[in-house]
Amino acid sequence: MLLTTSVGSLPKPDYLLAARGQARKGQITAAQLKELEERATREWIAKQEELGIDIIVDGEQYRGDMVAYFAEQLGGFKTSELVRSYGNRYYRKPIITGAITRPRPVTLEWWKFAQALTDRPVKGMLTGPYTIMDWSFNEYYPSRKAATLAIAKVVREEARDLEAAGAQYIQIDEPAISTRPEEMDLAIEALGIVTRGLRAKTITHICYGDFQAIGDKLERLPVDQIDLEFANRDFELLEFFKAKGKKFTKDVGLGVVDVHTHAIEPVEQAAANLRKALKVFGPDRIYVDPDCGLKTRSVDEAIDKLRVCVEAAKIVRAELGNGASKAPASRRRIAGAKRGK
Ligand SMILES: [Zn+2]
Repeated sequence: MLLTTSVGSLPKPDYLLAARGQARKGQITAAQLKELEERATREWIAKQEELGIDIIVDGEQYRGDMVAYFAEQLGGFKTSELVRSYGNRYYRKPIITGAITRPRPVTLEWWKFAQALTDRPVKGMLTGPYTIMDWSFNEYYPSRKAATLAIAKVVREEARDLEAAGAQYIQIDEPAISTRPEEMDLAIEALGIVTRGLRAKTITHICYGDFQAIGDKLERLPVDQIDLEFANRDFELLEFFKAKGKKFTKDVGLGVVDVHTHAIEPVEQAAANLRKALKVFGPDRIYVDPDCGLKTRSVDEAIDKLRVCVEAAKIVRAELGNGASKAPASRRRIAGAKRGK
């Protein structure tokens, strides 16, 4: 119960950030870069084991943007000129210019590499079809729906390859869902294509958004677990699930530390929020993790935030264990005290 995990990305160490810059300028080879990506992956897996994380991630040391990484390896995509995203950041947006195909597996080799380094389960990490569509230009398919469903078919192939290789958990991230509630039905249909018939535990992460608009459809998402950002909004999302009562039956990935702040949350604060969540979800349905990917934090901040997740879960697990055996004893004490009066 209260298994600990991460949402997916972890920060890249300085030597890898420098090497990625050098690789872009042609100063080091792709093989040299890959060696450093493997080193960073090994380090993150060892660190997660040392911290006591139950379900490991590879940390995505070899990925840049979560959509571009897939678009670069799938057939049917080209890359745009630089376009502006939030603030003053520029990036190259993928363009769908032909039928989408998967010439070869996208994430499989990295998953195998990571899983070979640990006895703990490593999550398969995929970007969802709706998010890949929404964050790309479409110049080929007649509609957003047609593009999304075509992407779903290749993401499904990737999920099946991961499962066949032994992945026990497969996460298909759909951060775009929360920004376009009017297309939630399309996202659900596409995700259903990806997860249908999988025996692995399936998860989707959704970033914070308009839960008034999408909330009622969350339970229709065809996955076993929905991972959400609770800490960033001071756990107000719990009220939403409390109102649903027993109608919400999925497992919940519970973000207990905010990924947008440098400050490290006190363990006791995270534990207190976990206790609040236990009033809404059973302990076997809660997975404890940071709100979102940690790639924007420094390596040290990410480690500290992961440690808070593990320590808070440990404290609350111990209480749950003790709580069950203590309850009858404390009733006896109260009864005895009454007799003494
Ligand atoms: Zn998120």
